[in-house]
Amino acid sequence: MLAKEIVQNQREYFKNQHTISYDFRNNALSKLREAILKYEKEFTDALYKDLGKNQAESFFAEIGQVLKELTYIQKRLKKLMKNKKVKSSIIDFPSKSFTSPHPYGVTLIISPWNYPVMLSLGPLVGAIAAGNTVIIKPSEFSINTSKVLEKMISSTFKDNYIKVVNGAVKETQELLDQKLDYIFFTGSSNVGKIIMEKASKHLTPISLELGGKSPAIVGEYANIKVAARRIAFGKLLNSGQTCIAPNHVYIHESVKKEFTGYLKESIKEFFGDNPIDSKDYGKIINNKHYNRLINLLDGETIAYGGNRNDELQKISPAIIDDVTHNSKVMQEEIFGPILPLITYKDLNEVITYINNNPTPLALYLFTENNEIVKRILNECNFGGGCVNDTIMHVSSDYLPFGGVGESGMGSYHGKASFDTFTHYRSVIHKSTKLDIKIRYAPYTESKEKIIHWILK
Ligand code: NAD
Repeated sequence: MLAKEIVQNQREYFKNQHTISYDFRNNALSKLREAILKYEKEFTDALYKDLGKNQAESFFAEIGQVLKELTYIQKRLKKLMKNKKVKSSIIDFPSKSFTSPHPYGVTLIISPWNYPVMLSLGPLVGAIAAGNTVIIKPSEFSINTSKVLEKMISSTFKDNYIKVVNGAVKETQELLDQKLDYIFFTGSSNVGKIIMEKASKHLTPISLELGGKSPAIVGEYANIKVAARRIAFGKLLNSGQTCIAPNHVYIHESVKKEFTGYLKESIKEFFGDNPIDSKDYGKIINNKHYNRLINLLDGETIAYGGNRNDELQKISPAIIDDVTHNSKVMQEEIFGPILPLITYKDLNEVITYINNNPTPLALYLFTENNEIVKRILNECNFGGGCVNDTIMHVSSDYLPFGGVGESGMGSYHGKASFDTFTHYRSVIHKSTKLDIKIRYAPYTESKEKIIHWILK
């Protein structure tokens, strides 16, 4: 089916009010839950083929996250859909004022390959709850998972309500050439710019969930053992192919030796002496990215790991030492199991560097000193993050997730997912019983006096 036809069919369906009622939306969310549970095994197998993701990770970092989002939204859907009363201004007496949520209409979700289930179906939950029709364009690189997504959606929903379009750049661009009512994009900053440009042709509102180089800072007052373990977890989940993985670590010189020791210990604890053989350690998505990562290691001081297996497309966790901001490994978002350590003496240098460079999607600070926490929150801008942990802010239903500046715009998860796919109309409902004439001409002196008295 052509992109034009898909959008036209969905627009027709939307205009006919099918997606508006609470029952319809709630029923669609229930159908989605049932379908995910039915296809759970197929998703797990596909994620293993695409990324070597182990079963536990496929559930807790992908499928389970979507189920959790469904539970949160379904519990609150009735309340979220209600008009919300606000105060009326005295100028509008007598009236009722309220905000009234309304779906945008035909929405497009474009997802990347690294968490293909969560990043396609997570936003879908918000789009359905808000009452939209949805086109999903998954990544061409996680092809096995993308095929299961298409199979599951086409066997659960009608094309004119929710449809998966598989393909690459050409197919995405054809969709983007249509007039859409909302675009939700997750992917790289470079493609994000293309999406924004395309959206501007029709003034379509967008969310951009992008990437970047998220730093971790381990200060002299940190619990070093816990910091090392939690950084190893965040870096090595999905073999480092996580948008909010700590890209690199700023490590205070006084604790560097201790930190590096614990980091090695944690890697061994998680994946054994030879992580490449571990069933829990994933592979790099494709040859292009595998070679890119191998090339990044070339010429760097590898303090630990960095072994490779070309056939399995796996690189064992690598700790890179003696790194500066000018090192090759620091010139792009790593997006793999390579962890550069940048030694620092003075926190001011770290803050200055962060603030003079593209705003990171996440920032992770490890310290037991609350003054340092305050400083970082006051002085640094970033999408979101954790104090004394990595990654976990993404899995809270109560925290909106998203970037700022170069790491994106807009947010979702929990209520924020509903809000993202909703336009809140501001409405004043006036009574006709009383029609105070102050605002109508002719403007007499006494009318002006009253207007001044009200507004001043
Ligand atoms: P990508 O930008 O290459 O691709 C994302 C999607 O855009 C895919 O569906 C792809 O088919 C499509 N696409 C690619 N080129 C296009 C073009 N020229 N025109 C239109 N569509 C195009 O990203 P990726 O490699 O799949 O994912 C990795 C990136 O995504 C990293 O930068 C990572 O940090 C980021 N990411 C961000 C988040 C987040 O939540 N903020 C989550 C995961 C990944």
